[in-house]
Amino acid sequence: MELFDVAIIGAGVVGAAIARELSKTTARVIVFEREADVAFATSGRNSGVVHSGIHYAPGSLRARLNVAGNASMKDVCKNLNVPFEQIGKLTVAFDQDQVSQLHRLRAQGEANNVPGLELLDATRMQTLQPGIAGIKGLYSPTTGIVNPMLLTIALAEHAHENQVVFKFLHEVKAIGSHYDEPLVMTCATPTGEVSYKAKVVVNCAGLHAGKIAMLTGFDSYTVYPCRGEYFVLDKQLKDELNILVYPVPGAHSGGLGIHLTKTTEGNILIGPSNEYIDDGDDVSSTKAIMKQLKEEGSELLPSLQTGDFIRSFAGVRPKLTPPELGGYHDFVIEAQEDIPRMIHLLGIESPGLTSAPAIARMVVDMIDSHIPLSLKRHWSETFKENTNLYRRCYPLSHYDLSDRQELMRSNSDYGTIVCRCEQISKAEILSAIDRIFGPITLNGIKNRSRISTGRCQGGFCIPRIVTILKEYHDIGSKDIWWKGPNSPMFIGNLRTAGGSDNE
Ligand SMILES: Cc1cc2nc3c(=O)[nH]c(=O)nc-3n(C[C@H](O)[C@H](O)[C@H](O)COP(=O)(O)OP(=O)(O)OC[C@H]3O[C@@H](n4cnc5c(N)ncnc54)[C@H](O)[C@@H]3O)c2cc1C
Repeated sequence: MELFDVAIIGAGVVGAAIARELSKTTARVIVFEREADVAFATSGRNSGVVHSGIHYAPGSLRARLNVAGNASMKDVCKNLNVPFEQIGKLTVAFDQDQVSQLHRLRAQGEANNVPGLELLDATRMQTLQPGIAGIKGLYSPTTGIVNPMLLTIALAEHAHENQVVFKFLHEVKAIGSHYDEPLVMTCATPTGEVSYKAKVVVNCAGLHAGKIAMLTGFDSYTVYPCRGEYFVLDKQLKDELNILVYPVPGAHSGGLGIHLTKTTEGNILIGPSNEYIDDGDDVSSTKAIMKQLKEEGSELLPSLQTGDFIRSFAGVRPKLTPPELGGYHDFVIEAQEDIPRMIHLLGIESPGLTSAPAIARMVVDMIDSHIPLSLKRHWSETFKENTNLYRRCYPLSHYDLSDRQELMRSNSDYGTIVCRCEQISKAEILSAIDRIFGPITLNGIKNRSRISTGRCQGGFCIPRIVTILKEYHDIGSKDIWWKGPNSPMFIGNLRTAGGSDNE
């Protein structure tokens, strides 16, 4: 059975960040992911906000890791070529009670060492965001936005480039531990069970971290799934929002309230809602919440029209507080007392995306206390030159009209538009497929290139991408999945009028 120094369970942003941090060392590291790709769970389904750190109690892990993660994010994104913008945020008060909450938030933020916080009156708020409602606002200039899928993908790709082994479609089902012996993990894979040994195991399985913890008898916490639904607005509205706009959060709400955020691609998001559910894998959108989001979004942005709402999605928070309590629990990042080489990360809800780089440093320090780690002699913060095609292939939208013509002359694939809504060319799709983990799922290509995220919802582009995938990998339609083996895109043949079978 193959032995590794460290095994990481879960390739969300936290697992990927830990893997990258460990790739600086000579440790042999393996990552198990039950899905076919990285960022298929909560890390690919959130607001993408790099929070400043005003919302969490001073001294808590969430406050410390949030502020430290925020401070690292700019460099991480620059080094890994991930879209990040520090556009700032206004938390808006509509009455005097909420104004006192803003004072409390500012004091809390200052205690957490959040830089640059300012209370603004209505006139100054208008200069930052014309048309904004509210009587006072707390401005936090260090709040930013990041593409959470590309961040997770890039962290994992960089770790892989630095010798970390990734095993997709490997679901950890059992963990055996004997005093002072390496832990044995048994994974279910499409071809049967396989086992690996590791000296230290890090459980960062997100919504399933509670189940993994139970496998080694760590039952101090329960994970409660709490869904947040979003509406996505058409990119035409991108200039309507210069800055992120949040309401003052309610004392017991388990989220930050319905807010307006912008993606790094220019779509405005309205959401997320806050609803405890039974099944953490249930990411459906519901009619009732969609109605609520439309109403609350229109209050924050009065010019909104029905036609501006183009699609919806949802993500699920792994909360440690039960529905009757609401609110938040601090992040749990603990070595198990009776098996100290088993490290559990539980309740990594917001601001887990922001905190990921700082969580990674903390976990690597914990690992170092069990197995002393040595740094590699050669490790670079950036990808190797020309690691893959993507880094040489910027989206078409990156270029102005005259440069686009030049580009198409040099590479005719830029002249074939595959996704009309987002103006994505065949060159961009090929570069998404040709990346380190070479996704064969449509969701993986979507996370890398934004296909099917526009108004037509994939009606135009998906058949074209299927053709490109078939040609590139020389596979049949039935081998193409949306997310994995349980979601094939095609399940049979259609008989045509002429009697021949069509896939
Ligand atoms: C609605 C919403 C909005 C949010 N907004 C923000 C925000 O704006 N800013 C911010 O900082 N944070 C935000 N967050 C929080 C952030 O998204 C999470 O904290 C972060 O993504 C958690 O990452 P993770 O790697 O711990 O978990 P995940 O991304 O869930 O990754 C865990 C991985 O473990 C895998 N796994 C599970 N079980 C097994 C198993 N048995 N074997 C192998 N693999 C397994 C899963 O498939 C998954 O890929 C938001 C969260 C939600 C739900």
